[in-house]
This record gives sequence, C-alpha cells and structure tokens, in this order.
Amino acid sequence: EELYGINKWGADYFSINKKGHVVVTPFGKENGPQISLHEIVKEVEDRGLAMPVILRIENILGSQIKLLHNTFRDVIKATGYKNEYKGVFPIKVNQQEQVIEAIAQFGKDFNHGLEAGSKPELIAAISMLQNRDACLICNGYKDEEFIDLGLYAVKMGFKCFFVIEVPGELELILERAKKLKVRPYLGVRIKLSTHAEGQWSESSGDASVFGLNISQVIDVIDRLKQSDMLDCLQLLHYHIGSQIPNIRDIRAGAFEACRIYQELVNEGAKMGYLDFGGGLAVDYDGSNTNYHSSRNYSVEEYCYDIVESIIAVLDKHDIPHPVIITESGRVTVAYYSVLLFNVLDVSSFHPSPLPKDVKDNPSELIQNLLSTHDMISPKAIQECCNDALYYRNQARQLFKHGQINLRDRALAENLVRHILIQISKVGSELKHVPKDVQDIDRLLYDVYYGNFSLFQSLPDVWAINQIFPVMPIHRLNEAPTHPAIISDITCDCDGKIDNFPDYAHDKNALMLHELKDGEEYYLGVFLVGAYQETLGDLHNLFGDTNVATIHVNDDGGYQVIKELEGDSVADVLSYVEYDVKALRKSLKQLAEDSINKGFITPKERKQILEGFEEGLRGYTYFERE
Ligand code: PLP
Repeated sequence: EELYGINKWGADYFSINKKGHVVVTPFGKENGPQISLHEIVKEVEDRGLAMPVILRIENILGSQIKLLHNTFRDVIKATGYKNEYKGVFPIKVNQQEQVIEAIAQFGKDFNHGLEAGSKPELIAAISMLQNRDACLICNGYKDEEFIDLGLYAVKMGFKCFFVIEVPGELELILERAKKLKVRPYLGVRIKLSTHAEGQWSESSGDASVFGLNISQVIDVIDRLKQSDMLDCLQLLHYHIGSQIPNIRDIRAGAFEACRIYQELVNEGAKMGYLDFGGGLAVDYDGSNTNYHSSRNYSVEEYCYDIVESIIAVLDKHDIPHPVIITESGRVTVAYYSVLLFNVLDVSSFHPSPLPKDVKDNPSELIQNLLSTHDMISPKAIQECCNDALYYRNQARQLFKHGQINLRDRALAENLVRHILIQISKVGSELKHVPKDVQDIDRLLYDVYYGNFSLFQSLPDVWAINQIFPVMPIHRLNEAPTHPAIISDITCDCDGKIDNFPDYAHDKNALMLHELKDGEEYYLGVFLVGAYQETLGDLHNLFGDTNVATIHVNDDGGYQVIKELEGDSVADVLSYVEYDVKALRKSLKQLAEDSINKGFITPKERKQILEGFEEGLRGYTYFERE
C-alpha cells in the first residue's frame, strides 16, 4: 500500500487494488467505487484515443471545490466569523474550455467565481460564469478595451472587480467608467513586506514587480476621494506566490494584509472583500514538509490561519468581517488530471555475457580488467572503483590513437560494466558507501523511454525542477526490479524525469518493472491539472495530447463524458505558420520530379504521397501499428 508513496500524495483519491492496479476513488478510499486506471486506459485506446492521454476525473474537481468551501464554512462556523467565503478560480492555471466549464458547473452551488488576468481570459470568464452571485476579479495590466469589457460585465449585473495593479490604471478606469456611465467595483493589489519561501518567492516582498506600495495606495485613496468615488474601493488583494510550502508565511502575509485592510477602512473606503490571492499549496511529494514541492499544513489549517488573522486584527476595532476570497488555482485543479503514457523501449546498462574465450590470450588491458573484476571485495572496493574507471579511460585513449579497434573497445567497455555492477552489488551491503561507489550507482540506471513530451505535458519538471508523483498504473503486485530514469521522446537531453521524492529508489531513480514482450507498460504522472497543459509548448513539434474526461457514478461504474483529440501533424505545422496546402503541393511536385529523374515509379509515387497524407493526419506522438 505504501508503494510509490501513493498513500501520502494521493489525498484519498488514488490507491492500489488487489489486482495491483492504481484505482481512482473520487469519493474516498474507504467507501465508494474504485475504478482501475488500467481499465480506463484500455477503454480509451479502444475508442481510438492513443497514448499519451490526459485523463481528467471530473468528480475530483467537484470534490476539491467542495473541500475548499466546506472547510472554510466549518472554520467560519467554529470561530464565529461573521461573513462568508467566496472562492475564484484563476483562469491562467488551466484555461481549457472544458475545465472552466466544469468549474463553473461544480462551483455554481458555492458561488465560486473566476479570476482573469487578460482580455481573452476576461471574455472567457464572463461568458462561462453565468452566475451573478459569484465574483469576477480582473487582475493584470488593463488597457481601455479590457476595462470596457469589465464595465460591460458590471452593467450586466456581475460583481466584477478591477484590481489596480499599477498606479496609471486608475485614471483610465475612472475615465471609461464615466464615459460608459457605470460605477466600477475597485480593489487594490498591495505589495506586502512579508516574504514567502518557495519557487515563486519573487512574487513577494519589497522587490516584487506586482502591486502598489503603501504610498501609491494612499494616492489611490486621495484620487478617489477627490472624485467622490471612494465608496467604489471595496477590495484588498495580495498574492505572495504560488505553492507556498510554509504555513508561517501564509499566516504572516494574512496578518499584514488585515492590518492594511483595517487602515483602508479607517481612511473611509467602503471595504467588504479581502482577497488572499493564490498560494495554497499541493503536497506533490507527499512529504508534508516545507520542501518546495510540498506543504507543511492542511487545507483546514490554511483556512484557520486566514479566518483567525482577520478576527484578531479587525475585532479589536469593531470592523465588520469582510467576504473572504482566495484565488486558489493549483489546489483546485491539480488532482483531477493524470498524464498516462506507454513505455516504448528501455535502454539498459546491463552488460552482455562475456565471450567464452575472453581469458585465452587477453591483451594487457583486458588482463588488467579481468584482475580488477576478480579483486572486488568490501575491503578493496575503492581501489577497484579507481581501477575500473582508469582502465575505461585507457580503453578510450587507446582507441582514439588507433591502438585498439572497435571490437576491442566494445569488449573492454562490456567488462567495465560487469565490474561496475559487481562493485555496486558489494557496495550496497556496506554500512558507509564511498562517494565514488554512489556515483557508480547512478551510471547503472536504465532509461525507460516514455511516449510523451516533457516540454508539452510536464513543463515545470524542466523549468523549475517540480516534482510530480510518477508510477506504473498496473503490475503493482510484482516487485519492480530496475532502477530507472524516464526519458521522453523529444531529442532533448533535458527531456527526462530524474528527480524523485523519498519513496523512490533514490532521489535520481525510480524502481520500474521489466518490460514484457507483447504487453504495454503504462506509467501515470499524477496531480498535473494545474499549469502544465497551459504552459506546455511545441518543442520538436509534439502537440497537445488526447484528453479523456470521465465521470464516476455512485453505483461504481464510470462514463467517458468528453473526448478531445490531440493535435495532428498538420495542426502543429500550421501553428508554426506552415501552409499545409502549399506543403502538399510541393510534396506532389517533389514526387513528380523524382519520377522524371527516374528515382521512383508512378506506383511508388502513389504510395509515397499516401504515406505523407496519412502522416499529416496522424498523431504527433509514437503510434503503434
Ligand atoms: N492569483 C494570482 C494573482 C496569481 O498570480 C496566481 C498564480 O501565481 C494565482 C492566483 C494562483 O495561485 P495558486 O495556483 O498557487 O493557487
């Protein structure tokens, strides 16, 4: 059950069944249905959606929205807080239409709103939300058109706030509001002095590029007073970074913001909303620590810290409690998407058997390697390690200078592999493993080639060393035997996953199973619903993957409710401005020219052009025939 740390990061949504399959348990592990991911993969493939596939489990999204609202509701009740919680989902975390549609649908009962940071996001938000009791928050830099769109939303009855991020925005908002005859809802984003740890620490502290400093906030107040519009200022917002791992920073930030809120009330603003931004982290590695891919707190603790900070600051001054808003993105959507892919091949460090006649008349180099091999023991381990690496280098030098041929070099390197494996075996039984022996272990890892692009589907692994839980989704009744790193199929040496949490073999390798002939081996990368789809790019022209969304029924069954075909080769070529029609034309000309030059026959021309046509229609990833 502790396999691959699933009980730690799975948040009750994922576990392993008796068959050794990962199962999704959207209603909790103890009761409710358990759906095998392996069975889902088989169905999805039968439907014609090839690997890699992003699987979305819709119920988990619903459960996460519910968790956020119910936890705030319980904490509000337990503390006697006198207002409500209204979450907004920041569209940038996953802008896909199907995702926003599902958030609007599951969030309806809770009046869960949306946050937009650009014109396209705002248009999507207004048209998808369809709920005037929820909030719309406009962050980001706003031009006249952006502001007009927000003001139209206010005209149509939406509570749409403009959060002032830079001083210059206010004049434009006032000018457009006057012109369109709407009273805007205004907020200010402040730069807190609180500094948060984690990957996004630059969003916090004095040097952060977003938000107003205190004297700029005073200027906003004075300007609003001057035009008799201070009543429009109702919201205070801050955001000190995404994925804040340490609860101490959350508490410190909340406390500082409450003090500023209190001062804004004292200045005469008709405040009513306190927006704590994002930052509520996901425990990706399951360690429950303040490591950057984890968090040292629960959702409940997060809610308590926010609610109690407000009570502690405002009650002393009899200031009414505001509506609490959080812009929680990651925690809302991360859990509900899994990236699934098959393994195409394995490159193994395992040496081939030595030729029977290796000891007959060996060269000096081979003789030295054979004696090193025979010498390996706990006592001589460091010496053997030095010798093996020395002779490996010697083989390369001799080859370079033409003193040994390709076969001699292959034999020497094969012998070195036998030696290194033996050293690693003996080393693993030692109490203190010498550093050089630890480094050898790293050379022995297999490379499993996964049918996916890291840059398209897991960009944060490449960009910021983010850790996501990765594991096989089946064969979990068999002990995995191979320490491995996982490579994608881009031709980029950065396209690999070789950074794992504590549950792995070591921090650079994961234990995986040996491939079986004629049987696919599937891996899943979990908790990938936030940011990954959105930030992914077309490196090597690998496009969007296929997507399948399932809904799990209370009775234990499930349905595939949405399918989205990934990009075809023609799609990705057109994204980088190729005119596919023109490409077809020039391929035809090329084939014609090849006939004229006698390279191919007319029949081969037909076959070649059909091949290209099929290629253009096909999936960008590895397709099994
Ligand atoms: N709000 C703002 C202004 C942000 O910049 C971000 C992301 O960095 C978020 C909300 C979402 O943060 P998270 O995904 O940590 O909840």
